[in-house]
Amino acid sequence: MPGMTIRTRFAPSPTGLLHIGGARTALFNYLFARHHHGEFLLRIEDTDRERSTDAATQVILDGLAWLGLAPDQAPIFQSTRQARHAEVAYDMLAAGTAYRCWLTADELRQMREHSTRVESPWRDRDPAEGPPGINPAIRIKAPREGDTIVHDLVQGDVRVANAELDDMIILRADGTPTYQHAVVVDDHDMAITHVIRGDDHLTNTFRQLGIYRAMGWEPPRFAHIPLIHGADGAKLSKRHGAVSVLEFREQGFLPEALCNYLLRLGWAHGDDEILSRDEQIKLFDLDGVGRGAARMDYAKLTHLNGVYLRGADLLPLCDDLLARLALRFPVAPEASARVLALLPFLRERAKTLMDLADSAAFLVRTVPLPFEPKATALLTDEARDLLRALGPALAASDFTPAGIDAALRAFADAHGKKLGQIAQPLRAALTGSTASPPIDATAAALGRTEVLARIGAVAG
Ligand code: GLU
Repeated sequence: MPGMTIRTRFAPSPTGLLHIGGARTALFNYLFARHHHGEFLLRIEDTDRERSTDAATQVILDGLAWLGLAPDQAPIFQSTRQARHAEVAYDMLAAGTAYRCWLTADELRQMREHSTRVESPWRDRDPAEGPPGINPAIRIKAPREGDTIVHDLVQGDVRVANAELDDMIILRADGTPTYQHAVVVDDHDMAITHVIRGDDHLTNTFRQLGIYRAMGWEPPRFAHIPLIHGADGAKLSKRHGAVSVLEFREQGFLPEALCNYLLRLGWAHGDDEILSRDEQIKLFDLDGVGRGAARMDYAKLTHLNGVYLRGADLLPLCDDLLARLALRFPVAPEASARVLALLPFLRERAKTLMDLADSAAFLVRTVPLPFEPKATALLTDEARDLLRALGPALAASDFTPAGIDAALRAFADAHGKKLGQIAQPLRAALTGSTASPPIDATAAALGRTEVLARIGAVAG
């Protein structure tokens, strides 16, 4: 398709959450458009007015923004386009590729109850003949012979016999479009060139192609990507773990890690595991998308998140962490410098921002700290006596990590102790736990006043 501007779209229904399957679909559409210097659009499929709310739309917009997948234009709301959907249905009527299907209330009820193929007696009758006033839905006049083939960019050629496709309704009796009809009219009007979506939509494509054919419109290329499954092979759902993008955010995953993971779930470029967004854009194409169902591996995602945490820029990471900590307890104003100083150590062991928040909590709290039982056990009478004496010795140091280290060693020597016999009680006093970054760096990050206050709180 030389010279053509590639345009993709993500078309979620606003149901109140952005599923990670949807996020992956958005990511593939985004990367494909970027790779081809095209445009990535967002269409909110809000025709179901009862389920669609502004809040649900906001969840999608927030989720996409967080993932760095903001669309290139303002979102298009499908519900605003109903007049256009109707217009196309009437065009099809006029062209004879659709017909008014007059149904009695009884027939209508039967149709609703059985989603079986409907052979309407009105298909080949003169539209003017219809009895006025009752339920004239508009149905497409689907071909009965031959096959419809989808030349899918992921699934290959998929064929269905036209005899299996019924004359589906395109415009309901109340004038509203059906889902299949609205999707086609919108994709056409938005000049979408590539429809990349979950393979649960593959069967819809045969029906949708009928509308393109009836209107004489060139259909887009289709790429149906395998859905995400849980480890047990069943379609991914709540019982497997988190499924909504916002849940992953709350649990402390970084958007870059989640995107990288979702990309690799079902798409490969050699053995490359970690790819920056720029590399993703450069390398992504549909021929790397696998046909097999992708299996969600939470442990792998968590591992990848740890890798991203260690490579993240410190300042934004620190801000995110402080915001999470502020939800738990009041955060001291000097906390931010402390967290920033120890973040390089803390993130070595963390897999998520929640792990980081747990391990950084001691830095932002004020005395008295909560104590783990193991830390309390370290604070024996002897240890408290040592800490009481240690306070002035530490206070006299320059409070750099090196100065603190030297003071601790000198103090241990003077008292005939090993360094650990001093460092461990000090760690307990300063952090309320038995594990922390190196004690000299920890004490330096807390600063002289706070260190003395914390020693005083246990040994004073
Ligand atoms: N609104 C549909 C969904 O959320 C997607 C339609 C499409 O991508 O064609 O599943």
